[in-house]
Amino acid sequence: MIHFLTFTAAVGARLGGINRRFVCLAIGVLISVSACSSAEHGVGRSHHTGQGFRNLHTTDDKTFFDFVTWQWQRLSKNIPSPEAYHFPIAGTDPGFLRREHHSAAITWIGHATLLLQSNRLNILTDPHFSERASPVQWAGPKRAVPPGIPLDDLPEIDVVLISHNHYDHLDEESVMKLFWRPGGDRTVFIVPLKLKEWFTRRGIERVVELDWWDEHRTGKATVIAVPVQHWSKRGLFDGFETLWAGWVIRVDGRQYLIVCDAGYSLEYSEIRRRLGPSDLAALPIGAYEPRWFMKKYHMTPEEAVQAHIDAGAGTSVGIHWGTFVLTDEPLDEPPVRLGKALKEKEISPDRFLVLQHGETIIFDSGGIRRMAGTGNAEAASAHVPAIP
Ligand SMILES: [Zn+2]
Ligand SMILES: [Zn+2]
Repeated sequence: MIHFLTFTAAVGARLGGINRRFVCLAIGVLISVSACSSAEHGVGRSHHTGQGFRNLHTTDDKTFFDFVTWQWQRLSKNIPSPEAYHFPIAGTDPGFLRREHHSAAITWIGHATLLLQSNRLNILTDPHFSERASPVQWAGPKRAVPPGIPLDDLPEIDVVLISHNHYDHLDEESVMKLFWRPGGDRTVFIVPLKLKEWFTRRGIERVVELDWWDEHRTGKATVIAVPVQHWSKRGLFDGFETLWAGWVIRVDGRQYLIVCDAGYSLEYSEIRRRLGPSDLAALPIGAYEPRWFMKKYHMTPEEAVQAHIDAGAGTSVGIHWGTFVLTDEPLDEPPVRLGKALKEKEISPDRFLVLQHGETIIFDSGGIRRMAGTGNAEAASAHVPAIP
């Protein structure tokens, strides 16, 4: 996530103690009204509710009191600021990303922003290049690390996939910059149901809206929207009105599963059952504390390992961590917990990678290789273990 709840919390964090509590409390009242009204319609067999959408394997029952309790507890936790962290940038050569290469290349730019290059197609997920994951750039969760690849250094983007409307996934400034850059008017935006209007209101017409299990052929790739357990909200009263989704991408004989933000659920097994195992999965490993509040919609690293197993992923890459302080766990904790979880399940760390921001992995007939950060694919060492 981030949605208006977290935004108001961040605004509140700029104020003094009493004022801060009051701001959180007052806006929380408004939020709870919309959350309750969405839950009323969350009954039925399908994920369509008439006014929006719902999850299939959980009830969407987050309340105003839950939110206030989280924020109250958070104030006493001394959550480190983004400045407390120092993540290295891999320094992939943008020239390499712009050159035509026969292998598939996957670059983690940060948070849920991934560049997948395969078969001469450049596919970008949840582009976020702004300073804050927020509706305004003067408040809200701030970056702990710059984008691993600056937006201006990206190759021409053929397809942008948007998973849902939370501010850390649908960033207006990044979307508009991508649209207005040379060739940007040729970019196709693929979005879940009811999100197309957000784009057309801004003059972007090349938008494809998909329901869960719908597919769209674009260039030499097929993109399938798949169900994941999450939610949507961008304003005060629009909870669950637009759909959220994961993506299966089939291109050049390989299948990729990209889940930008989701809780653990039965859906990973279902995706495998219906679409087969994926060669590479990108799975969220951050934004999971406190569990009593986050559990339904955000996986822990341990749950991400289970999702990796359920989805039958050949290799996975951890995303949705290490970029914005959205929740209560330390920003650098997910890789440590992931390493332990893999050890416990006796899964080799090179089956579930944690990349540096901006790092590229190459996927060719020899398997997956991590690039050394020089931009020279040939110099990449084979099967380098994950950090740490
Ligand atoms: Zn979200
Ligand atoms: Zn998120």
